[in-house]
Amino acid sequence: MKIHEILLSKLDHDKQKKQVTFSIEFFPPKTEQGIINLKKRIQKFAELEPIFFDITWGAGGSTSDQTLELSKHIHTSGHTCNMHLTCTNMTLEKIDHALKTAHDFGLTNILALRGDPISVSDNQKKQQDLIIDEQLTSALDLVRYIRSKYDDHFGITVAGYPEGHPSQITMIPRDELKNLSEKEKIRLSFRDENYYCCRDEAYQNELRYLKSKVDAGADMIITQLFFDSQLFIQFQQDCYEIGIRVPIIPGIMLIQNYNSFRRMITLCQTKVPKILMDRFDSTDRENVDLIQEIGLEHIKQMIHDLKGHVDHFHLYVLNKEKIAFQVIEHLKYF
Ligand code: FAD
Repeated sequence: MKIHEILLSKLDHDKQKKQVTFSIEFFPPKTEQGIINLKKRIQKFAELEPIFFDITWGAGGSTSDQTLELSKHIHTSGHTCNMHLTCTNMTLEKIDHALKTAHDFGLTNILALRGDPISVSDNQKKQQDLIIDEQLTSALDLVRYIRSKYDDHFGITVAGYPEGHPSQITMIPRDELKNLSEKEKIRLSFRDENYYCCRDEAYQNELRYLKSKVDAGADMIITQLFFDSQLFIQFQQDCYEIGIRVPIIPGIMLIQNYNSFRRMITLCQTKVPKILMDRFDSTDRENVDLIQEIGLEHIKQMIHDLKGHVDHFHLYVLNKEKIAFQVIEHLKYF
């Protein structure tokens, strides 16, 4: 079944109970043993009854075999799977293979993405003959392509960025701060002694582009991770105002340790609320238990803040159980 349809039916069914639902995202491990371990972990998570599992797609199709294998495993085990698929640095042949394989084993949900360029310099790429003559260069192209080839077979999810896509976030000189609009102030972040923000004009472009992905056939949006609930609430409202009417699901990254948290906020250019950064600053960052405890408290607060605005949470669990189980426990009995 398509995920947006499941969510809608849950909403009708659970109206009285007002129970929130959740989904889990995994990335494919590199080794065979890792895949075996993840399959066991999926079984454990399945007992907690997530609505669906996402399996990510490595840039340029680097994990295509593993992503397809795990997606098939989830689907044939009787659970709902949302398989990610990117289109940059991928030949059309590879995209066709992925879609046909998924279609043929019965998968009905795809998260359609552009993807990021692979991390080798153009020169190296030329030498290694890695430059690919891409035919689909954006998620919009991919959504259109899937709809043109498979009509309504797949439920399609696309990515949304409450703070703007990282490529649209720019450094704000200190003397410009006073000129920021109220909405820009919500998106303003402070990192490594500098201020950053996706300015209103770029943000509006982003919203228009997101709407074009929905108009082209996307049924649902999952967001980039964020740590400030207000950003999501504003984004949800802005999407509504521009005419987006599909479910917008908050992507919540669980904090497993300080280094991975730091890596992700730099990669995604995510705003970290001062209250959370201050707590990390006054803590021994090597103390994983303490970092996880602070992170968990913050995520619980976010769930509390967002609960009146959403009925479903998508958890980036980074293939780990402990914190995820605690968050799910909290979600279930909240
Ligand atoms: P697009 O939607 O095509 O565009 C990204 C940005 O480009 C837009 O937000 C906009 O700023 C700009 N843009 C492009 N075209 C236009 C236009 N016509 N008009 C205006 N602006 C435009 N990466 C992976 O490699 N594998 C994964 O499995 C994966 N899963 C993800 C899941 C989620 C929920 C999210 C949020 C991201 C994921 N990513 C993944 C990362 C993603 O590939 C990158 O963020 C990538 O840079 C953009 O992909 P996209 O699908 O958002 O691209």
